[in-house]
Amino acid sequence: MNDGLYFLAAKCSATRNNFLLRLTNTGGKWVVSYAVKAGHSFEPGTGTSRGKAIETRGGISLGEDCNCPWCDAESFVLCNCCGGKYFACYDGCGNHRCPFCGKVSEVGGSIESVNTSAE
Ligand SMILES: [Zn+2]
Ligand SMILES: [Zn+2]
Repeated sequence: MNDGLYFLAAKCSATRNNFLLRLTNTGGKWVVSYAVKAGHSFEPGTGTSRGKAIETRGGISLGEDCNCPWCDAESFVLCNCCGGKYFACYDGCGNHRCPFCGKVSEVGGSIESVNTSAE
C-alpha cells in the first residue's frame, strides 16, 4: 500500500481562498488528516495537479480539526461541475455554489475517486 503524501486541492466556498486537504490512508480507508491554507491557485485547467487518481470507495472520512481553514465549514464536497477535480468546503445547508465555476448544484452521493495533487 502506498502511504505517500496525498493532497487534495480545495477552495473555500465562502471566501474563494485556496486550501489543501491532506489525505492519509489508514487501513484501507482514506482520512483527511488536516486542512491547511494554500497561497497559490488551483484554478481549473491550469494543470497544477500532477498527482494521480485514487480510489475512495467507502468514502473519505474527516479527521478531527478538519474544518475549512478559512471559514470553518465542517464538510466538503467534490465539485462535479468542474470535472470532479476540486474540493470545496460546504456549510452543510442547502445547495452548494461551486467556488470555481459559480454553478449551484445539489449535494449528494458519495465520493468514489479523487485526483490528488502532489505537493
Ligand atoms: Zn470555507
Ligand atoms: Zn464547478
